[in-house]
Amino acid sequence: TQTPAIPLSDGNTIPQVGLGVWRTPDDVAAPVVKTALDAGYRHIDTAAIYGNEEGVGEGIRSSGVDRKDVFLTTKLWNDSQGFDSTLKAFDESLKRLGTDYVDLYLIHWPAPRKGLYVDTWKAFVRLKTEGRARSIGVSNFYPEHLEMIIAETGEEPVINQIELHPDFQQKAARQAHAPRRIVTESWSPLGQGQLLDDPTIGAVARKHGRTPAQTIIRWHIDNGLVVIPKSVTPSRIEENFQVFDFKLDDDDLAAIAALDRADARIGPDPKTAD
Ligand code: NAD
Repeated sequence: TQTPAIPLSDGNTIPQVGLGVWRTPDDVAAPVVKTALDAGYRHIDTAAIYGNEEGVGEGIRSSGVDRKDVFLTTKLWNDSQGFDSTLKAFDESLKRLGTDYVDLYLIHWPAPRKGLYVDTWKAFVRLKTEGRARSIGVSNFYPEHLEMIIAETGEEPVINQIELHPDFQQKAARQAHAPRRIVTESWSPLGQGQLLDDPTIGAVARKHGRTPAQTIIRWHIDNGLVVIPKSVTPSRIEENFQVFDFKLDDDDLAAIAALDRADARIGPDPKTAD
């Protein structure tokens, strides 16, 4: 089974399910990425700060899957923000990845106290024009940060990758993205594993004869979100991709909708994180 392709506002598409490789050391990343590509994944989500771009690049090459058939995302780390430093950091990422383009380049955090995300976005627009970043987007941006970069450049990010899981559903952010056709991508989609024991998730999972992880990933899919679950365990990597032959119904979606809580954020608040 293949992962559905979600259209981006720039005319490209992104595979809806990808593999996240945060906290996956460089030497582990290569076999993990190969395992995922063997299992059918065609989308890998890394970042300069993860320290595994070399392993990710090696994993793609060793899989035998054509580079053009893999959707590869990396991210600019906060200490590289600024126009010239962004261009330099991008070159270094490409070199580590061993490729001459990425499918998606993201500003990892707005880091508003630095005051550099607009200059950074101007460099992203140049990388997009050069074709070395096929699509450009952001991560952890509040609507006010999105409006700022659009006002300053006229260029809309195609994606905002934000923390999103069944108990932290980010409805305000999703409502702000919709009119601009900004795709919402869920990071820590499984709540870093914390949600796998939730009784509501468990009941829906049993009803469909699926695992809790598959049920949560399917919830992201049925909400139109792009989702990048992480695992380094081959059986779980495969399990997390067996999600294209069932669907949650209205009762399931209503039960999971009720899990949303304002205080369920796991990661830092992007307003203050840098
Ligand atoms: P996640 O929500 O994907 O949870 C991963 C954890 O869940 C695993 O470490 C494992 O413990 C468990 N797990 C996964 N599959 C399982 C299964 N089938 N059965 C049982 N347990 C399972 O957490 P994450 O890694 O924080 O997020 C996913 C990806 O999102 C990251 O790898 C990274 O690529 C991205 N991310 C981005 C940002 C950002 O600021 N942009 C921040 C955090 C994560």
